[in-house]
Amino acid sequence: MRLDQATKEQLNEWQQSLSEQYANFKAAGLNLDLTRGKPSADQLSLSDRLDGILEGDYKDNAGTDLRNYGGIDGIPEAKQLFADMIGVNAGDILIGGNGSLPLMYFSVQTALLHGLNGADSAWNKETGKIKFLAPVPGYDRHFTVCEHQGIELIPVAMNDDGPDMDEVERLVKADPLIKGIWCVPRFSNPTGAVYSDAVVARMAKLANIAGDNFRIFWDNAYAVHVIEQDCDELTDILSACRAEGTEDSVLIFGSTSKITFAGAGVAFMAASANNRAAIQKALSFTTIGPDKVNQMRHVRFLKDQATLTAHMDKHAKLLKPRFDAVLKQLRAELADSGMATWTEPKGGYFISLDTLPGLAKEVIKLAAEAGVKLTPAGATFPYGNDPQDCNIRIAPSFPTISDLEQATTVFITCLKLATVRQKLAA
Ligand code: PLP
Repeated sequence: MRLDQATKEQLNEWQQSLSEQYANFKAAGLNLDLTRGKPSADQLSLSDRLDGILEGDYKDNAGTDLRNYGGIDGIPEAKQLFADMIGVNAGDILIGGNGSLPLMYFSVQTALLHGLNGADSAWNKETGKIKFLAPVPGYDRHFTVCEHQGIELIPVAMNDDGPDMDEVERLVKADPLIKGIWCVPRFSNPTGAVYSDAVVARMAKLANIAGDNFRIFWDNAYAVHVIEQDCDELTDILSACRAEGTEDSVLIFGSTSKITFAGAGVAFMAASANNRAAIQKALSFTTIGPDKVNQMRHVRFLKDQATLTAHMDKHAKLLKPRFDAVLKQLRAELADSGMATWTEPKGGYFISLDTLPGLAKEVIKLAAEAGVKLTPAGATFPYGNDPQDCNIRIAPSFPTISDLEQATTVFITCLKLATVRQKLAA
């Protein structure tokens, strides 16, 4: 089916047959969900050994009793594990609680209210509205972290190799109230893009234009979440910043949420001594210390990079057939159709699909009425506003393969029907 070559007669025929298929799906009373970017139960079961792994040994190598208070920055063994995972030094790591999102929220809040480089550096000391750059499509929870704290978001286009750096540099140069940028540098949410070396190099220089109080929120949530082995590596931005003398400009975040248990993992950040000192100080007013027992469980379970990689391979074996189930149908039904484009990520959790302009809301509505839930249109843009109304985020990790196949069939029918109707109405 090629949209641009179709005659009016063909379009009418397609509309007729697609409407019939759609009515059949509606009558089937389906209840399928492509919204949830979370691990399946099979993936979670890969880490069931975490429970009980300590076998009553609650001491770290230094003899600290991990059951007690204290150790706000984390245990040395966990710092080493996560440092090796993202290619920084153990001394750069600060360990948090069970999720990276709270650490990100807290870091934004600390920078805003207290400053990361002394009280005078607090963003709210400035006159005017503080702003962040938001590469789009992006992760909605990044946007809501800012929205909740009164920070305005400015969308920037996301390319296959990272954000449009010309635009990023132009914007930060023009407006000193832009204090941050959100980045998911490897297998980005939702496009799956991996930032290129050239983009990382330009990011590392950004503070030279944006000023000392600018921070890159480098959310490396999918650092080791490989699905296809022939994927791109990510350059370590902290080393790149150190080489530029801009090491205070980046805050790196990560967690084991999609490595072990999504609700009971360990989060961490990597940053310069100045940034860690400011954030650790602020943290000390909120907690006497994180869950060190869980940190040690993760150290014993994930052990070293070889063990971690073998564990991630098991995730990939469960994820790949799910991604393939969706991609196979997209290719078979929509390749060269002129109706949609989509990403084929080599890692991470999402497929990002663009309809023709003005159709995402309609496709999502049609799918919902046929019992297939999709992430709300606009969710990948700040304020839920996708100006082209075209981006749809597909999350294949959670449903069973047969549910995914069925949901994708319905989704594609809805997309074709909405597209043909739009073309006929034009
Ligand atoms: N960052 C990104 C880019 C995500 O996609 C997600 C979850 O989907 C998170 C962070 C949440 O991480 P955590 O569970 O560590 O809070």
